[in-house]
Amino acid sequence: MSVLSKPYFHDEAAAFEYVEGVIWGGQPSCPHCGVVGKVYALKGVRSKPSKKNPEGVERHGLKKCAACRKQFTVRKGTIFEESHLELHKWLQAIYLMCSSKKGISALQLQRTLEVQYKTAWFLAHRIREAMRSGDLSPFGMDGGIVEMDETYIGREPNTPITKGGSHKMKVVSLIDRDTGRSRSMVVENVNIKTIGQIVAANMVREARIVTDEGSWYNRVAEQVAAHGTVNHGKAEYVSRFDPDIHTNTVEGFFSIFKRGMKGVYQHCSKKHLHRYMAEFDFRYSNRSATGCEDQERAMRALIGGVGKRLTYRRTDGGAACAA
Ligand SMILES: [Zn+2]
Repeated sequence: MSVLSKPYFHDEAAAFEYVEGVIWGGQPSCPHCGVVGKVYALKGVRSKPSKKNPEGVERHGLKKCAACRKQFTVRKGTIFEESHLELHKWLQAIYLMCSSKKGISALQLQRTLEVQYKTAWFLAHRIREAMRSGDLSPFGMDGGIVEMDETYIGREPNTPITKGGSHKMKVVSLIDRDTGRSRSMVVENVNIKTIGQIVAANMVREARIVTDEGSWYNRVAEQVAAHGTVNHGKAEYVSRFDPDIHTNTVEGFFSIFKRGMKGVYQHCSKKHLHRYMAEFDFRYSNRSATGCEDQERAMRALIGGVGKRLTYRRTDGGAACAA
């Protein structure tokens, strides 16, 4: 037995049973009228005959609401809605994305799941959407330490290459040392104003922030209880006065992120960068060291897919992102 031999990775009926268990917890609710519990299963219903399937295919997980008489499956209102891909393949994809520390490319998903590239690409982006945390709770509660740093990656669209990092895309990340969570933002500029806005939106006043010596962090101290710095320019990585003052945790996060972006994803356009950040934040915030193992992480991603119906639309035949 291995994780991959679980029935819900292979069998469509088992996949539905698993997803229903995770999302409904034994109490199906009607997505049309919201009634809970007055739902019964419709067994043996088949889809209309088609050329490919003259007998039709079995409609797994079909339910009917006794209150409003409408039909639905657990896919309704989730990232799975409006997708023709079988649910067990979705579960395989979610597991692969959640268990690979640096991510998994759409090409690899295409080969492993034996689907078209286009399908794999949309699948991966929808799973990233499921991973996107709606959690806006502030960092640094009870005077906890928050590490903050910026990194530069890829290339800003339509920007000539310059000696500094200004032609690259910019990401600011926060790590709450107490909870172990990360939160990353794609920003236009790294300056005092942007940093001030990020601190105001994401941290409590009693937080203690640690950064490097970047001048854009100069006024952070005005917004929170304390601001410690390490001077990387002078090869200071841990403060000589306080061993808690370092940014090694956030540097470690950037290191996983960059290895993933360079080694696995290779290229990412700016309009999608925030989704990749959500993916790396999700895996990091739900990592083994926080007590969350692969299967639990996959389950959390699955739950994250509820209420996030497909937000992509095709416009000019290319992949467009509406969100
Ligand atoms: Zn209903």
